[in-house]
Amino acid sequence: MPAERVDTAAPVAALVVAAGRGLRAGFEAPKQYRLLGGSPVLRQALAPFLATPEVGRIAVVIGAGDEARYADAVAGLGDARIVPPTMGGETRQDSVRLGLEALAAQGFRGTVLVHDAARPFLTEQLVRSAVTAIGDATVAAIPVLPVTDTIKRLDDTGRIAETPPRDRLVSVQTPQAFAFEPLLATHRKAAAEGRAGFTDDAALMEWAGHPVATFAGEPANMKLTHPEDFARAEAPGPPPLVVRVSTGYDVHAFGEGDHVWLGGVRVAHDRGVLAHSDGDVALHALTDALLGALAEGDIGTHFPPSDPQWRGAASHRFLAFAVERVRSRGGRIDFLDLTLICEAPKIGPHREAIRATIAAVAGLHLDQVAIKATTSERLGFTGRKEGLAALATATIRLPEPPAPPRSP
Ligand code: MG
Repeated sequence: MPAERVDTAAPVAALVVAAGRGLRAGFEAPKQYRLLGGSPVLRQALAPFLATPEVGRIAVVIGAGDEARYADAVAGLGDARIVPPTMGGETRQDSVRLGLEALAAQGFRGTVLVHDAARPFLTEQLVRSAVTAIGDATVAAIPVLPVTDTIKRLDDTGRIAETPPRDRLVSVQTPQAFAFEPLLATHRKAAAEGRAGFTDDAALMEWAGHPVATFAGEPANMKLTHPEDFARAEAPGPPPLVVRVSTGYDVHAFGEGDHVWLGGVRVAHDRGVLAHSDGDVALHALTDALLGALAEGDIGTHFPPSDPQWRGAASHRFLAFAVERVRSRGGRIDFLDLTLICEAPKIGPHREAIRATIAAVAGLHLDQVAIKATTSERLGFTGRKEGLAALATATIRLPEPPAPPRSP
């Protein structure tokens, strides 16, 4: 099929569907008129279109009896691009068709962005994405998100019939962007043939055989459906995270042996290290850096050398403990930086293995872990090959602490 292209210079209209009764949301008034943070949901859904100069016309489809609520919701917006509202129909599909017919009666031709009023967290950025996508694409482009839940299809008895592969599934949002005339023609055809039950406009276009392109939706662009959605939307967000940086330092002396542990990697060497645990200076320095950023003491506070249970312990347990402490405080690790100081063994051949091990233990991407190595130019204890040292820096973010008590 040849691509049906849209004239990118064509005017853009937003068609906002606000005719639903919102019964599932359990309020007296339809949910699109409910106040959210002091402002009607519908008014918030219109704002990003008003903020986008490309949108030349904004049409709202409302329910019978909602005229006064609509007037209140748009009061004072004072923007000539908002045309008088159209009365909706029995179903969402009917309401969109009636809204399109009203635009057609005004002589509109171009691109139409169909949006549900119950999505008040729409952003100007997503409106622009829709305009760009329909310009680049064909007759239809819709915002989608990858699904994170596994989705299953049921049979008639309520048992699982199928588990479709998740990598080909998306959830669909609005605004959905369409070339106006094909969308209107498809709605008219569906109405003439008595085809109902399409839950979005893209489904109509698919039914009519039009290609439907996709663009990235926004997770925050949720649809308010249940009373809990309002409660969640109005709940205060998490406290802001503030950056903390801390260093850690560790030394172990060489002793008898044929290997050392560095960053959880066994490195062959003509010496071992003297240590209560496995003597992994890299993991000990990193653990101290993280505990420092948390202001929760140091490795000896949590794993005293006097405690026999840590004899010969694999040090990744210490790092994993500190990582878990960051998580349980509601924080996140941004970056771990490590410098190893020794004349021998050579670190270079093991650097990437050490980096990968630390990233895995800390639950980080590789580019959040840096490993450097240096000698000390034969100076000092590392220069005399008496031992090895590690210096670590941890950059983390933690929820902002409450204000300190005032001194009297
Ligand atoms: Mg140590």
